[in-house]
Amino acid sequence: MTQLKLAASMSRLGTESAFVVLARAQALAAQGRDIINLGIGQPDFKTPEHIVEAGIKALRDGHHGYTPANGLPALRAAVAGDLHRRHGVDVNPDNVVLVPGGKPTMFFAVLMFGEPGAEIMYPNPGFPIYESVIKYSGATPVPIALEEKNGFAFSAEDVLSKITDKTRLIIINSPANPTGGVTPKVEIDNLVKGLLDHPHVALLSDEIYSNMLYGGREHVSLLQYPEIRDRLIMLDGWSKTYAMTGWRLGYAVWPESLVDHVTRLCINDHSCVNAATQFAGIAALNGPQDAVRDMVAQFDQRREVIVRELNALPGFRCADAAGAFYAFPNIEGTGMTAKEAQGKFLEQAGVATVAGTSFGAWGEGYLRFSYANSTENILEAARRIREILQ
Ligand code: PLP
Repeated sequence: MTQLKLAASMSRLGTESAFVVLARAQALAAQGRDIINLGIGQPDFKTPEHIVEAGIKALRDGHHGYTPANGLPALRAAVAGDLHRRHGVDVNPDNVVLVPGGKPTMFFAVLMFGEPGAEIMYPNPGFPIYESVIKYSGATPVPIALEEKNGFAFSAEDVLSKITDKTRLIIINSPANPTGGVTPKVEIDNLVKGLLDHPHVALLSDEIYSNMLYGGREHVSLLQYPEIRDRLIMLDGWSKTYAMTGWRLGYAVWPESLVDHVTRLCINDHSCVNAATQFAGIAALNGPQDAVRDMVAQFDQRREVIVRELNALPGFRCADAAGAFYAFPNIEGTGMTAKEAQGKFLEQAGVATVAGTSFGAWGEGYLRFSYANSTENILEAARRIREILQ
């Protein structure tokens, strides 16, 4: 009989329950059930062909070895070029650090600042990994409550009022998972202005959905504020924009003073990103962008359909989804908790969604619907849910 003694930190590490829902949905589908998956946070499109070809070519050309830990110089230059095109900012490629996906940057940033006694602020409801890794680090997670009445945007005043001398890092995310909320420029302006009074606080801006804004909205990148560049970590990546979740490729722009620290974390953790994936990443950024535009246009059409359909369901109220590919309706009127609704819709209607509470305590009363699925399936999912509710 083994008697393994795990580190106490393991009991503080959370998870991402969208993967649990996905496993259950797949198990039901394997039993022959017809499941519509509106639970998963990944585009239902294929990676554009020219990107796939670049990855294959890299393998054929013999790129099978390690790359520099921070990433291929050509890819870091391509990232800087892309940021200049999209956000009009100048970024030194030496400040770009490539990692396997969006998640490693948040883990590394939190490991760098988190320890017992430190406070780290994060959006709630928000991407569940933030709270999970903050707790793992031993730091105290301080939620930034995101409310429906504010379009799920953070209020700069609220964030600034929670800063103490223990605050080390603030995490923000716009466009946001799970709410689809987009924080207006005025709040970002005010946050940056207020942060100037708190030079001990770093900022992690998760901009992984920066290409997915609707209704004429334009993305505001925190890179556009030179006054905080020396403490900004700006996270973005290929997963959502180029439908490349399985390739595992992401990056962050780091402040000069943190680049060596994060590079050491990369060396200790994964050495470098898979070489062929990095070549695919170059093709994605330097090649034609029409596949991205087409995908976002399709998301926009589905968004209108899903918001309309959800608002028509008894007990549902759905705010306009401004970005990403999620709708986050309030379901309190159904009389069910978020978890009950998630279970009932999956088991009885064959529709996978994710309970708002999977994204933090402030998500009670809400359900996340990903519209990374066809309009036909969205309409059918709404029909099945209506049938159950009646
Ligand atoms: N940040 C947010 C807000 C996300 O929603 C996700 C994925 O769902 C990620 C980061 C992580 O992306 P990746 O799959 O590239 O690690």
